[in-house]
Amino acid sequence: MGNSASSCRATNVSRTDPKNRASSLMLVDAHGRTVRYLRLSLTDRCNLRCVYCRSNARKCSIAHDDILRYEELLRVVDIAVSLGIGKVRLTGGEPFVRRDCAEFLARLRRRFPDIDLRVTSNGTLLREHVPLLKDIGIGGVNLSLDSFRRETFMRVTGRDMLPRVLESLDALLAAGIPVKLNAVALKGVNDGELEDFVHAARTMPVDVRFIEFMPMGSDTAWKPERFWSADDILADVGALATLVPEASRGDMDGPARMYGIVGGKGRIGVISAMSQHFCKSCNRLRLTSDGRLRTCLFSDREYRLRGLLRHGRIGDGHLRRLFGLLCVGKPVGADILQGRKGVAVSRKAMTGIGG
Ligand code: SAM
Repeated sequence: MGNSASSCRATNVSRTDPKNRASSLMLVDAHGRTVRYLRLSLTDRCNLRCVYCRSNARKCSIAHDDILRYEELLRVVDIAVSLGIGKVRLTGGEPFVRRDCAEFLARLRRRFPDIDLRVTSNGTLLREHVPLLKDIGIGGVNLSLDSFRRETFMRVTGRDMLPRVLESLDALLAAGIPVKLNAVALKGVNDGELEDFVHAARTMPVDVRFIEFMPMGSDTAWKPERFWSADDILADVGALATLVPEASRGDMDGPARMYGIVGGKGRIGVISAMSQHFCKSCNRLRLTSDGRLRTCLFSDREYRLRGLLRHGRIGDGHLRRLFGLLCVGKPVGADILQGRKGVAVSRKAMTGIGG
């Protein structure tokens, strides 16, 4: 609690020297977890309609004026960095459907030369931006790819865009940008294609990661029969390849359990979002595209910052103090889920939160 109280008193600290952005302040929550990672959703819009995320296209998107402007996002990052946040990921929705997303990444890099800057994308609009991503020294790209087969890709995403994603993947690898391929594990959909994923991890220097399907929102294709657990995935992969457990590289691996493949260039792993929570080591905050701070994926409590950011008389000091207070109250998601009656782990689908 001592540290968290000090983070609440962070307001009096002078603005971080732009040449030396290392901060002595930290965001520590009531459970002793230090928050170092901010996921910024640039938009809730997406050009795919993934069955696990937002298959229902009828849902309205957030109104343009309610989306945080790039200037406002820069201010949030400024405040976050001054409080010890060292890693920032742009996500969405699909970040590259927002105009000038790539230019915004470049602005972030110019302003925060030392942060670990990353992006999560479906890869459909990414290829042309790869030179810029290389130029700004992006820390890595998480590419969502649920199947290497055109038919299955269409079935999952509702769009025939696999070739564009694969072109982006090739361009990222050619540029030497670290890539993680994220596949949502869907029984009856991509479980019969495990060999493709193992082949990818064998032949390419990528981390292939299976994410357990989480019931989020009310419009996804969730049903218990679709659930393919991390343990089952590992057992199934084990039948195809010899796996060597790897020690976690901390923040580099995030919540994933990673395995080397004997004779392979890449690695394969699982994110057991449902079967084995990783709340103890959670170090993240999420900001939705309309400016709501979410301190836990599984808690529907969001704190509306947009009005404060647009209020002429509310300064950075006030916002810094608020960040400190909100982080102190960061919940343990697993505890929330235990007490929850319904199936869904959150009221919103991932596209509205920032995946
Ligand atoms: N458009 C970008 C993309 O496709 O990578 C970023 C946003 S998208 C919401 C990020 C990722 O969230 C998805 O690719 C998927 O891995 C994950 N995701 C979304 N809904 C999920 C769910 N119900 N269960 C598990 N993962 C989910």
